[in-house]
Amino acid sequence: MHSPDTIFHKILRKEIPATVVYEDDEVLVFHDIHPKAAIHLLFIPKHFVASIADITPETAHLPGLLILKAQKFAKEKGIDGYKLTFHVGKGGGQEVPYLHLHFLSEQKL
Ligand code: AMP
Repeated sequence: MHSPDTIFHKILRKEIPATVVYEDDEVLVFHDIHPKAAIHLLFIPKHFVASIADITPETAHLPGLLILKAQKFAKEKGIDGYKLTFHVGKGGGQEVPYLHLHFLSEQKL
């Protein structure tokens, strides 16, 4: 099966714009286009996995990586209260089949 080419692949390749707030070799972090809190960011790994439902022992580090990056980002920005969410599958509200961690806070960036 071929990998899908999702909107997040296009954002990673800079083919469509996004408001990127952080990038390194492992992750990209950008503002959600339809924010549901004062701060609503999406953390995505550069290594593609479609969903938590597709995590294997080989990719089990990726959710933890996203959580660690979110924790570091929050510490650096002085954000001490936030919510982290993975939507899993259509029934779990996942629209984009590219693993992403939602970061929401009512604090200001
Ligand atoms: P999910 O429902 O967990 O798949 O979340 C996908 C999220 O991606 C939604 O909250 C959308 O608002 C967001 N989204 C979709 N397209 C874009 C885009 N082009 N730039 C930024 N966020 C997007």
